[in-house]
Amino acid sequence: MEAELIAWYGRAKRDLPWRHTHDPYAILVSEVMLQQTQVDRVVPRYLAWLQRWPTVEALANATAADVIRAWQGLGYNRRALALHHAAQAVAQDGWPDTLTALPGVGPYTAAALRNFAFGDVDILPHDVNVDRIERRTGHGFTGAAAQALMDLGATVCLARIPRCDVCPLAAACPSKGTRDTAARKQSRFEGSFRQRRAATLRLVSVADTPGESLDREAVEALVTDGLVIVLPNGTVALP
Ligand code: SF4
Repeated sequence: MEAELIAWYGRAKRDLPWRHTHDPYAILVSEVMLQQTQVDRVVPRYLAWLQRWPTVEALANATAADVIRAWQGLGYNRRALALHHAAQAVAQDGWPDTLTALPGVGPYTAAALRNFAFGDVDILPHDVNVDRIERRTGHGFTGAAAQALMDLGATVCLARIPRCDVCPLAAACPSKGTRDTAARKQSRFEGSFRQRRAATLRLVSVADTPGESLDREAVEALVTDGLVIVLPNGTVALP
């Protein structure tokens, strides 16, 4: 089954900029951006980010305010600070053996770094796409299929309605033609507290803003996350 998958990947793979590098810093930037943002939105932001901060040292030396501003629009802004802190840790001490020791790096991102940057090609990073394909096919894939599984999960073996008619694994897949009954929907962003926080951070990113004109709960949450600070005169600013 894996051979069919890899042959399909050779024909159908998406040309993504982070697939042209093994630089761990570039891979880390791509993986952190991709954690909760769609590929199409990440590509231009990834390219702009690396142009501005091409090395881990460059990012480590950036100000937190610049990093937060550059992240605007990608969502889940805590990732920006985590990436900044991770760059500072690596610039100071090098890449740790245990990559999950870095801020914002969980088991999936660590496995992706191991495979795509450090050449541990036996390691298969397990995200929801890989889990879904392994569950549906009943097959355990190796790390060599990692990129192929990502593309299959993103374009063919979709969560809600899999496209079994064009799937390279259909001949051997026991789930061919079936649908998951309850694919989980992402929680609504419109009207959510997450949206209020994002809107507040966007205002402060443009200019320091008097606290009384801002959403107080959102400011408190942003302060807790280290994304904004409140100055003694009550003005809210980036750190
Ligand atoms: S045949 Fe259908 S369910 Fe099976 S791996 Fe392909 S797309 Fe997914």
